[in-house]
Parts: sequence; structure tokens; C-alpha cells
Amino acid sequence: MSEEHKLSMSIDIEKLTKTYDSFAALDDVSLSIKSGEFLSLLGSSGSGKTTLLMALAGFVRPDAGSIRFGGREMIFEPPHKRDVGMMFQSYALFPHMNVFQNVAYPLKLRGYKRDDIRQRVQQALATVELDHLIERGITEMSGGQRQRIALARAIVFEPKILLMDEPLSALDKRLRETMQLELRRLHERLGMTVVYVTHDQREALTMSDRIAVMSKGRIRQIDTPVNLYERPANRFIAEFVGESSCLPVTLNAGQALFQGRPLRGANTAVGLKNPSLVVRPEKLQFVSPEASDYNVLHGRVADVIFQGESQLVQIDLGEGMAVAIRRPTNSSANNHLPVRGDAVVLGLHVQDTLLVGDDQ
Ligand code: ADP
Ligand code: MG
Repeated sequence: MSEEHKLSMSIDIEKLTKTYDSFAALDDVSLSIKSGEFLSLLGSSGSGKTTLLMALAGFVRPDAGSIRFGGREMIFEPPHKRDVGMMFQSYALFPHMNVFQNVAYPLKLRGYKRDDIRQRVQQALATVELDHLIERGITEMSGGQRQRIALARAIVFEPKILLMDEPLSALDKRLRETMQLELRRLHERLGMTVVYVTHDQREALTMSDRIAVMSKGRIRQIDTPVNLYERPANRFIAEFVGESSCLPVTLNAGQALFQGRPLRGANTAVGLKNPSLVVRPEKLQFVSPEASDYNVLHGRVADVIFQGESQLVQIDLGEGMAVAIRRPTNSSANNHLPVRGDAVVLGLHVQDTLLVGDDQ
């Protein structure tokens, strides 16, 4: 561990702002990333992820705020003095150079000696398991191999910080999922600090130590994958991370009501604006109306959708509200699977009963 720690650096971002004309691409962003942490910036297109990453790399000059690496101010440092590796979806390899020359490029820029370059390139390519293809041309490589070469190029000078902007989004689903696990293992082995940009919440949940969810140039919540999923700070996060339905509830004398019945276990103490009940498909059960420990929802089956490993049963709750319940596809679980039109009672365990409010 101690050896790996030397290879990473903390990042402290304070009150970072970047406006284009009057539009705030970054709006007062503060964020501390621990040395060696794998942090993802998650948000939909246009939320400011790339702008934040480019500010860290030194290619975007913020209007105000501070960026410190290992405690040292970086705002006025040019990109090549920041010791960061970068990998982008569109950061194409040089097609006229072979694999060796591509990976050697950052070392040549930094004035490394020939023998040293050869050895480091060899090692970086071994890390991504492509050292046997060192003399090949780039055009002979598959999409996955090219991404691994780009990764080797990003880590070849052993940066303490690695910035990645949607590096896997051009790959097909299978390869993307394989690469996600490879990147995770690589991070565990090399131990550098990683800031990873993605718009794919599943990818962020899979890979990260922590996730910062961005929208409109701001960080809306930052937490571990489990906490983000189980304790979303507001309705925006609940709907963005994982599948969920947010059902409006009424608050009456400190009690939350849904379909006229009190919701036990609900977090009513905090003052929520427009409270709603977060319901995720895997948290629901088919129960009897008297089930203890469960809050019950009454509805009617609208559709049953076969999705391979599971079936999604969509339930109409009336008044324009709907939820879905997910059941694994195996014969014992599906003995009592209802069909379209059936009246059903769904149970949400009191411990899974969570209210969120609108983002303030
Ligand atoms: P993301 O990576 O999350 O999709 P970006 O950081 O690329 O978002 O962009 C955030 C917002 O800033 C977008 O609305 C984008 O149009 C705007 N923006 C980014 N770069 C520029 C630029 N150079 N000039 C003007 N607007 C920009
Ligand atoms: Mg982007």
C-alpha cells in the first residue's frame, strides 16, 4: 500500500467557476478527491463534466476558484507541468505511428532517454497485456486494443493523476463491461488518483470509490455508490441513479400518507419540498394486504415484460401513478407471477421506505 500511495496525489477543487458568455458551465464547484481514490463525475450531456476535467488538465482556464494537487496550486500551471495522464473517447491514436511510437510519444515530449523509453513502453504495454504487439500498426488493432493502447499511453509516464473522459463509450456493451473491470483492476494495482467521466450511471456504480453527480455545472451529491443508490439526497438523484418511480405523498401532522394509508418507516422529520416516495423495482414484493413490516401499495398489472434474467411487471397504481416490480426468471419465483389486469398488492419493506424532496 505505502509504495502505491507515492504514486497518487490528492485533488482539492474549491469554488471553481467557468462561464461561456453568461452561461455557467461550472457553477461554484468544490470537491476534494483523496489520494488514490477512483472518483467518477456522473451527469447527463452538457452538465459540465468535460469542462471540469479540462480545468483539471489545464486546458480550460477557470474564471475563479482553486485547484490544488497534493496541496499545490495548479491554476496557473500549464498542462505539461501538471503530471496528469489523459484518456478520452476521441483522443485518437496517431494512425501513421505504430504501437510503440504511440505509447512512446508522451515520453519523447518529456525528454526521456532512448533506452528508458523502450523499457517504459514495454512495461506500460505489458500492463494492458499488449506487449506482444509492440511493432504492429495502429490500423491493425481492434477497438478494444486501441483503447488499451490509449490507456498505455496515458499511464506510460506514471502520472499520479489519471483523467478519463468517457473512454469506453465508443465500445460495444460486452467489451465496455470487460474494460470497466480491467480499468478497476489496473487502478487497484497502480494506485493513482483517477477522475473518470461518464454519463452511464451503471458504469459509475461499477467502477467508483465515490461518485459526484453533476447537473447544470454543479455537483448535486457526492457519495459512495451504495449510499448514492440507497440514500439519494433528492428526487433528481433518485431518478438519475438506478431505476425508480417517485410517487407523490402527502404529509399530515408529521405522517406521510400514500393512497390514504400512513407510510411506516418514512423519514418525515426532515423538511422535504414536495415529498415523494422512492420505489425501486427490486425492493418490491407481492404480499398479502396485512403483511407486517411492509407498507402496501394497491394496483393492477399493466404489463409483464420478459427481459431474460428477470421479468419486469408494470403496475398501474391509479391517479396516473405507476411502479414496476422485478422478479428473477426462475421457475419457483414465477409460480405466482400475475398476468395483465390482475389486481395486486405490493409490499415495500419499512426499512426500504424512503422519501425524497425536490432539489432545493
Ligand atoms: P458534458 O461533458 O457534461 O457533456 P461540457 O463540460 O462539455 O458537458 O459542457 C458543459 C456546457 O458548457 C455545455 O452546455 C456546453 O455547450 C458548454 N460549453 C463547453 N465548452 C464550451 C465552449 N468552449 N464554448 C461555449 N460553451 C461551451
Ligand atoms: Mg463531455
